[in-house]
Amino acid sequence: MPKYVFVTGGVVSGLGKGVLAASLGCLLQARGVKVTLQKIDPYINVDAGTMNPYEHGEVFVTRDGLETDLDIGHYERFLGQDLGEANYLTTGRVYRDVIARERVGDYLGHTVQVIPHITDEIKRRIRGAAEATGADVVGVEVGGTVGDIEGLPYLEAIRQLRDELPRPDVAVVHLSYVPILSTTSELKTKPTQHSVKELRTAGIQPDFIVARCPVELPNGLRDKIALFCDVPREHVIAGRDLSTIYGVPLAMRAEGLDTKLLARLDLAAGEEDLTAWKEFVGRLERPARTVRIGIVGKYVELRDAYLSILEALHHAGAALAARVDVGWIPSAVVERERERALAGFAGILIPGGFGERGVEGKVFAADYARRAGMPYFGICLGMQVAAIAFAREALGWEKANSAEFDPTTPYPVIDLLPEQGGVTAKGGTMRLGEYAMEIVPGSRLHQMYGVTEVGERHRHRYEFNPLFREAFTAAGLRPCAVSPDGRLVEAVEALDHPWYVGVQYHPEFRSRPLTPHPLFLGFVQACLS
Ligand code: GLN
Repeated sequence: MPKYVFVTGGVVSGLGKGVLAASLGCLLQARGVKVTLQKIDPYINVDAGTMNPYEHGEVFVTRDGLETDLDIGHYERFLGQDLGEANYLTTGRVYRDVIARERVGDYLGHTVQVIPHITDEIKRRIRGAAEATGADVVGVEVGGTVGDIEGLPYLEAIRQLRDELPRPDVAVVHLSYVPILSTTSELKTKPTQHSVKELRTAGIQPDFIVARCPVELPNGLRDKIALFCDVPREHVIAGRDLSTIYGVPLAMRAEGLDTKLLARLDLAAGEEDLTAWKEFVGRLERPARTVRIGIVGKYVELRDAYLSILEALHHAGAALAARVDVGWIPSAVVERERERALAGFAGILIPGGFGERGVEGKVFAADYARRAGMPYFGICLGMQVAAIAFAREALGWEKANSAEFDPTTPYPVIDLLPEQGGVTAKGGTMRLGEYAMEIVPGSRLHQMYGVTEVGERHRHRYEFNPLFREAFTAAGLRPCAVSPDGRLVEAVEALDHPWYVGVQYHPEFRSRPLTPHPLFLGFVQACLS
């Protein structure tokens, strides 16, 4: 029978529940337990695809094409597994299914209610994660903080599961915060007490409390939290601020959380093997050199909007014993200051994006990097602006553009292909998820991947226009990967350039700490030399 570990959060959001859940998964997996993780997002959106990355951080795309919250990205990176449909649930998805069933008459005349119908559907999906993956332990992170109105049905579902299943099969880990009062430098446990009280109001007594704290948690405070929150003292776990999120599994290991959790779940497991992970963290913390890479984007003020790209750069940097120091360059600044905004960087990366704002700054940056022989990595929109820049500057098509930004351009080098045309609904209508592609033998891309066939994840509506393929190739920006039917251009590279690559897909979603993505490795390597 599978076991369930719920991770709830209290006091404030942003304490790192996702990283804690991912770290628990990483630790149990390192001890030979078959683990999966599930994220519950209590908002009404059906998926994260329509949400503004400004407000909510990046939209992470799974292999099976689901647009999810960035925590799924943490899970994939910490577990080294591809996740999907079964690992993500939102209130929108739950209600959508219940309402669809009500419409076809499945409830046989009953009043359809939050309890039991919505809570049954939530429990069905939680158990579904175990069924779909065959995991022995399912870690379930409940988004938001306890006490949020949206979260109540989920807490109720967890309470019911605790009653229905044998005691060793369900555990609750509550992440809380112990702040320091700046005036008296005192650590305070009262917010933790209140958030546990809130959890108990929902009928749930936590088994573990992870107390996130800016400094070392004094023993006296451990005792106090144990007493006031009614958990054994050794189940109060200190969660100190760390320099890297990848240190969290090691810190939780040092606190013995994995062993204590296994005991609570009555689960036998082997000794953990974290050798490779420790080496990776060591390389992250003690780099031999530093390389400065500029990211030009619309949302640069908010790092979470580009989370997977940052992580992918750090994975590649660690493998090359280098710290990647990212400089954020708002595209508006490039529009104003031109090349001055790009000075001092070893390479430029332009990430994905939507909408016209800031595009001209990106086109300039892509063109500048090509002319200056500066390593350039264009991802999705970053590839599209490279194509626009090349059409204007190298092919002399002054008005070249993407149909997304100028529907009447005479040179729509990026365009909607017929199968995408006519789609007006916003949710889930893009080209999403993993698609196979074929890499041109002998290309730079081929050198980096080492193979000619690979699958990568997509999230876009527009494509490189096949009409202009030959002109581009002849002038030196050649398509170096195409869809298996040969129709879609998936990547381009500049021929007379040290490292100039644009990809229509999102390689960042496949980078893992211990297996960095080959293109990120290639790019960071090029920036280092
Ligand atoms: N806006 C572009 C498109 O829809 C690029 C999308 C992206 O960068 N993810 O094709």
